[in-house]
Amino acid sequence: MSYKLFIPGPIAVSEKTLRAMAQPMIGHRSSDFVALYRSITPPLQALFYTKDPVYLSTSSSWGVMEGSLRNVVKKKVLCCMNGAFSDKWLDVARRCGLAAGALQVEWGQPVDPAALRAELATGQYDAATLIHNETSCGCMSDLPALMAVLREFPDVISIVDTVSSCSALPIKKDGLGIDVMITGSQKAFAMPPGLSIFSVSPRALAKAATITDRGYYFDFLEFQKNHEGGMTPSTPVIPLIYALKSKLEDFAAEGLENRYARHVRLNRTVRDWAFARGFRLFPQEDYGSITLNCFTNTLNIDLVALNNILKTKHALVIDGGYGKLKGQTFRISNMGDETDATIATLLHALDASLAELGTK
Ligand SMILES: *Cc1c(COP(=O)(O)O)cnc(C)c1O
Repeated sequence: MSYKLFIPGPIAVSEKTLRAMAQPMIGHRSSDFVALYRSITPPLQALFYTKDPVYLSTSSSWGVMEGSLRNVVKKKVLCCMNGAFSDKWLDVARRCGLAAGALQVEWGQPVDPAALRAELATGQYDAATLIHNETSCGCMSDLPALMAVLREFPDVISIVDTVSSCSALPIKKDGLGIDVMITGSQKAFAMPPGLSIFSVSPRALAKAATITDRGYYFDFLEFQKNHEGGMTPSTPVIPLIYALKSKLEDFAAEGLENRYARHVRLNRTVRDWAFARGFRLFPQEDYGSITLNCFTNTLNIDLVALNNILKTKHALVIDGGYGKLKGQTFRISNMGDETDATIATLLHALDASLAELGTK
């Protein structure tokens, strides 16, 4: 059975992107690969608003999220936590044997710049992790305000997860002073999972060079060395790199500004639809994500039953809540390739499914 995903990752992948993947393999040390690799660096740098290299990791985002810690943390990392993914990052740091501290706020609340400043001012930390868009609860923190605080602490390397936000709104890596910016293929890029895309500042690379047990697979210096030759450290997922090239062409055809405006508009459409039916946003409203909406299940709907109807009758799927929020919230993605028409189709199907649920 085939159906379309409106969950916040993985999301629907276009036929064009799928077709782009179905090309013959090339050797990853061949001149054809180097040409492919070099052709996507400039548009990726434009997307990250950076002069630094943008690397390709054959892993999901967690690979680079964990790897980053191993590359730059010597003293102690501060993990800013306001949802499932950011909470997990603390756990991952400790599993790597690193000293790590928590700056915890409630799920759905944004990370507080003043609290970040107070914690960094203790002088214990040489790195900080931050999730721009906490997908688990649909909360988007104020990245410019948080980065302004991080810039006050030049000895602290900033590691920023933009996994579910990059390409949906401008995130100016160099302008904000982000040291390590990480995203993944299956969220707003609308590609299948398996590729992580990241960029590292010169000072983060220099820090990595002072750390001996960085491992191999996610070693920043390996990525840099290979990048200089137009390659990746190990055999990459070439079909996803074909897909990425195709996707970057799509972004250029639409225009980044149009793409950003589309995400804001469709997000608002979904939000207005839900508000009109009595649902509330789960996160603090000013900090609601623009790539998905996480709503509180104020009407106490049986979300499993709702998704069953949606899937079997309309071939569409939304998310019934992440982790401890399962059943209490639902999430609808508007990231990637969605249009006014596809969102209208979803909302119409949701109304029909809600009506059917009500009459049962
Ligand atoms: C999806 C997601 C991740 C994890 O990505 P994987 O591809 O599963 O490794 C991390 N952070 C955020 C914010 C995400 O949305």
